[in-house]
This record gives sequence, structure tokens and C-alpha cells, in this order.
Amino acid sequence: MCHAFINDSRFYQLLMRMDQDIAAEVRAGGCSCGGVLHSARYPRKPRGIRSHLDESYATRLSFCCAVEGCRRRSTPPSVRFLGRKVYLGALVILVTALEHGLSPKRRQWLIETLDIWPQTLARWRKWWRETFVASRLWQAQRSNFMPPLNPTQLPGAVLGRLGGHDLQQRLCHLLVFLMPLSSTSCPGYVKVVIDPQKM
Ligand SMILES: [Zn+2]
Repeated sequence: MCHAFINDSRFYQLLMRMDQDIAAEVRAGGCSCGGVLHSARYPRKPRGIRSHLDESYATRLSFCCAVEGCRRRSTPPSVRFLGRKVYLGALVILVTALEHGLSPKRRQWLIETLDIWPQTLARWRKWWRETFVASRLWQAQRSNFMPPLNPTQLPGAVLGRLGGHDLQQRLCHLLVFLMPLSSTSCPGYVKVVIDPQKM
């Protein structure tokens, strides 16, 4: 599997554009009270690949209702930030998916390049095998994969089943698939277009 794009800032710019499109859709929908949404970004400090990230990665897009007395927070789903994890969702998927197929040397290189602690890796594996498989998202979607996926092979197994002409595109599809897990204030469906021309 070719994963050179994890060291390419264009990949992270593409994910940022996808997040901007998602956020624009959420903002256009307004608050559930009918109020207008104002920008109220959260500071974020993603770890591991700082040199490839521009300043847009220092914040997570979020909105706050402008109506006094409501002020409800709407944080759009994200293909960049997987919930509260300090590493980007793309890395959480890739590193855990690649783990089985990598030589010990290659694995060590990836762990050092991304500055990931062995304990962090263990936590991610646990997240896929326990938290993810128990999520409403997976419970609702797993029957769409035929033949059934082996939960111990996640996330590599699902990555292999998604469309896309290369690993980068399949990864984008998986990030979109995981979007409902990235936000608790806007768990609803948001349409995302992945434009291969922009990759
Ligand atoms: Zn409101």
C-alpha cells in the first residue's frame, strides 16, 4: 500500500476543503430555533504531522447560535478530527490499518515519523475493537458489507471494501463514513462530495 500522501500537505488541504463544505451546509441550515449561526471555532493542536499542516488545523470549525437565550453550539461533522482524539482521523485509521501489513522496520518508521506512543496505538486498537463496533453507526451499517467483515480486522477490512482507485481515496471514503462519530451536536446526515480532480 502506498501511503506517501501522509507526508503531503495537499492531502490535508483537501480534507480541510471537505470540512469547509460540510460546515457551510450546517451553517446554511441554521440553528434548530431558527437563529443564525455564527462562527465559534475550537482551538485544536493535532499531533504527529505538524510540519504538513497549515494554520487551518489549529482550529475545528464550529458555530454558535446568534439568538440571545439560545446560543446553541453546532459543531459540524469533520473528516479531519475524529471526536476528541488528538491525532487526525486519517492517521488513526491508517496506522491501525497498516499495522498488520507492515514489516517491523517500516512500522517503527511510521511510529517515529508520526510521534505515536505504543500506548496510543494500543488505545486505538481498543477503540476500533470495542468502541467502534459498539457504535450505532457500525450497528446500522455493518449489514451493508457482504460477506460480513471480521471485527478484529478493523479498520483495514472496511478500508479494503470501500470504493476509490487508490488508498488515499478509500481513506477519504472511510473518513466520510465515520463522520457521524466526529460530532455529538450535529449527528445528522451531511452530504459530502469527494472530488477526485482535487486529489
Ligand atoms: Zn438557536
